[in-house]
Amino acid sequence: MRDHTLEEFRTAARDWLDRSGVPRCSAAGAGVPVWGEGSDDVSVFHDLSFEAEKALLDRLREWQRTKFEAGYGALTWPEEFGGRGLTPEFEDAFVAEERAFDTGGAHELLSVTLHLIAPTIRLLGTAEQRQRFIESFLSGRELACQLFSEPGAGSDLASLGTRAVRDGDDWVISGQKVWTSGAQFAQWGELIARTDPGVPKHQGMTAFLVPLDLPGIEVRPLRQMSGGTSFNEVFFDEVRIPDSQRLGNVGEGWKVALTTLGFERGASSSTAGVGGSVLQTVGLAGFTGADRDPVLRQQLAEVVIAHRLGEIAHARDEHARTRGEPLGAVGSIRKMQWVSRMRGISDFVAAALGPRLVVDSGEWGTFAWGRHVLGVPGYRIAGGSDEIQRNIIAERLLELPAEPRTDRTTAWRESRR
Ligand SMILES: Cc1cc2nc3c(=O)[nH]c(=O)nc-3n(C[C@H](O)[C@H](O)[C@H](O)COP(=O)(O)OP(=O)(O)OC[C@H]3O[C@@H](n4cnc5c(N)ncnc54)[C@H](O)[C@@H]3O)c2cc1C
Repeated sequence: MRDHTLEEFRTAARDWLDRSGVPRCSAAGAGVPVWGEGSDDVSVFHDLSFEAEKALLDRLREWQRTKFEAGYGALTWPEEFGGRGLTPEFEDAFVAEERAFDTGGAHELLSVTLHLIAPTIRLLGTAEQRQRFIESFLSGRELACQLFSEPGAGSDLASLGTRAVRDGDDWVISGQKVWTSGAQFAQWGELIARTDPGVPKHQGMTAFLVPLDLPGIEVRPLRQMSGGTSFNEVFFDEVRIPDSQRLGNVGEGWKVALTTLGFERGASSSTAGVGGSVLQTVGLAGFTGADRDPVLRQQLAEVVIAHRLGEIAHARDEHARTRGEPLGAVGSIRKMQWVSRMRGISDFVAAALGPRLVVDSGEWGTFAWGRHVLGVPGYRIAGGSDEIQRNIIAERLLELPAEPRTDRTTAWRESRR
């Protein structure tokens, strides 16, 4: 199928969505939520049992497979990977159309697989790795998590200490990762490990693609303040993998990590948010009468304006991307703006609902917002904390003096950690 214009594509996509058997979101259509109708879930992180979360992921994977097979699952990817080679505007148009349908929600593990790890393998993987993983990931057949952070290495990721030691044609991995989103449901992990402690920290790391069902790997879910267990600790006890599962060159793990993190910050510029949407916020304002309160309606206007500015910035970034201009450090600004928009919604909702935010009275669309409010702070940290984004903006965009550092020349094993 060839689509000549964006409008023709939009019409074809809408027809396909109508025929795909997925129910429309609401009677109002076009994804506009109707107060009191359907689910009132606005959670940032799921609070589900293991079985329920697995079932959710299975449904989402099935939907991803359906889209991929129909040519809508990887629109901007080249045809050789099962994509359509279209520009990001087409992707945006499809996402906008899809929003009118109840496709089962979202899960961070699917986003990590599709938007972070698959593109990293495309850029830095061998021909065999691209062949083995990309279609499997883009079609949702297998999922992959990001095994980067450790108890002693988060913002300063390059100080990580999980060791991978060469043994013939294999590598033997020992250590601990933490905050690994979705590891309990992933088949694979992109792991960054220390392979040479005798050189400065940024130089002695190597990346690997690790199957998570190997002997010696233990995944332990961590409970969050918003209720769920969306991330995990992952322990490696002498786990053996072949050298063919190395991603990139030995000693170039930092380059691989930066590539994945670059995709992560780029993905944050998207307007498709997690948690409660601006339309749901407006719905809440109407229900509570906050839109008729002189102070609260100002606050609501700020939420709506910030959202609109986010859409404009996103369109601008997508145009730049179409011209082949990478987002670079602007991704840090976009990530902070995205989190700030979600916090704006939290603040408005807390003011509009008052005690109803914390009292589970069974009333539709009120207590449920607690999951948004409690989940948002996690995104001030995930993918690089606010302070780290500010450092990037200061150094790379404003060209302010860099933080003083001694770790460029000292061997990792001798550096202070
Ligand atoms: C929701 C969520 C999902 C996540 N998912 C994953 C995942 O899938 N895989 C993964 O590997 N990791 C994941 N993480 C971990 C995340 O990448 C780290 O939490 C993050 O990098 C911060 O590291 P840290 O928690 O060790 O905090 P620290 O680095 O210890 O930071 C503590 C505080 O010090 C500040 N700080 C640190 N260094 C500086 C500096 N140089 N200048 C100024 N301030 C500084 C920080 O901003 C922060 O406020 C996730 C985290 C969250 C919250």
